[in-house]
Amino acid sequence: MVHIIDGKAFSDKLCDDLTAEIARLKAEHNFVPCIAVVLVGEDPASHVYVSNKVKRCHQLNIESREHRLDDTTSQAELLALIDELNQDSSVHGILVQLPLPKQIDSKAVINAIAPQKDVDGFHIENAGALAIGDNQIVPCTPLGSIMMLRDYLGNMSGMNAVVVGRSNIVGKPMAHLLLQENCTVTIAHSRTKNIEEVCRNADILVAAVGIPHFVKADWIKPGATVIDVGINRIQDGDRSRLVGDVDTEAAKAVAGAITPVPGGVGPMTIACLMYNTVAAAKMQAGIA
Ligand code: NDP
Repeated sequence: MVHIIDGKAFSDKLCDDLTAEIARLKAEHNFVPCIAVVLVGEDPASHVYVSNKVKRCHQLNIESREHRLDDTTSQAELLALIDELNQDSSVHGILVQLPLPKQIDSKAVINAIAPQKDVDGFHIENAGALAIGDNQIVPCTPLGSIMMLRDYLGNMSGMNAVVVGRSNIVGKPMAHLLLQENCTVTIAHSRTKNIEEVCRNADILVAAVGIPHFVKADWIKPGATVIDVGINRIQDGDRSRLVGDVDTEAAKAVAGAITPVPGGVGPMTIACLMYNTVAAAKMQAGIA
C-alpha cells in the first residue's frame, strides 16, 4: 500500500513550531521578523503566489511589507528599491516574485539582494554555499522536499536518487541536498538518453520538469519514494485543475511513497519561506 506523504500536514506542523518561536522572539526580545515582498507587473499566477505568502505571514505573525510595482518599472527603479530594503535594518527578508517583466534582468536583481536577506536562497553566494556543502539560506522548494524525505526515510545514505530537472531554483539545489544526505545522485534533463531507464534506477525520484504527468508508472522502481515538485494547470472538461509532473494515480500502484499534487511540495515551499525568514531575522538580530 503506497504511503501518501502529506505535505499539508507537515507544513502545518512546521508553521505551528514557527508560530511558537515567533511568539518567544516577541516575548523575550520584543522582536518581530519582517519580510518585504516585491511584485512587479500583473502576472495572475504571481499575484496568487504573493497573496498566499502574505497570508501565511499574517497567520504566523511575521510582518510583511508589500511593494507592488507596475510592469513598466525599469531595472534601475527596482534595483533602487532593493538597495533601500537592503539598508533598512527592520527588514530581514526580501522576496522578489519571479518571473520579472522582460526589461528586467532577473539575475542582476537577485544578486543585488543582500545575501543574508535572500530568503528565497537564489543569490549566487547562497547557491555557492550550498554547492560546497556550507549551507546558508537554502531554496524553499528543495528545502521542503528534503525535510519530507528526511522525515519519511530517515537515513538516505547510499540510496540512488534521480532528480529530473536541472533548474537553479529546484533541480540543482535538490541534487546538492541529496548529495549531502550521502545519496548517489543523478540529474536528468531534456538531453538525457533513456530517461525511463535512469528513473527506474531511483530509490528516490524527484520530478521537477513542468510537464503534466511526465513520469509514468513504469519508470518507477517498485517501492521507490517519489517527490512530485510539478505544479501544472490543465483543462479537464470545463474546469481546470492542478496536476504534478508524475502520473500520480498510476504511480501509486508501484511507488512506496509519493507526494500528492496539490497538497505535497507546494505547501512546504511556503512553510520553508517562513522558516528561512525567521532564521534570517534571528541571524541578523544576533538572537539564538
Ligand atoms: P524549469 O522550466 O526552470 O526547468 C525544467 C527542467 O526540466 C529543465 O532542467 C529541463 O531540462 C527539464 N526538462 C524539460 N523537458 C524535459 C524532458 N522532456 N525530459 C527531461 N527533462 C526535461 O522549471 P522549474 O525547475 O522552475 O520548475 C519545475 C516544475 O516545478 C514546474 O512544474 C513548476 O511549476 C514546479 N515548481 C513547483 C514549486 C512548488 O512550490 N511546488 C516551486 C517551483 C517550481 P533542460 O535544462 O535540459 O532544459
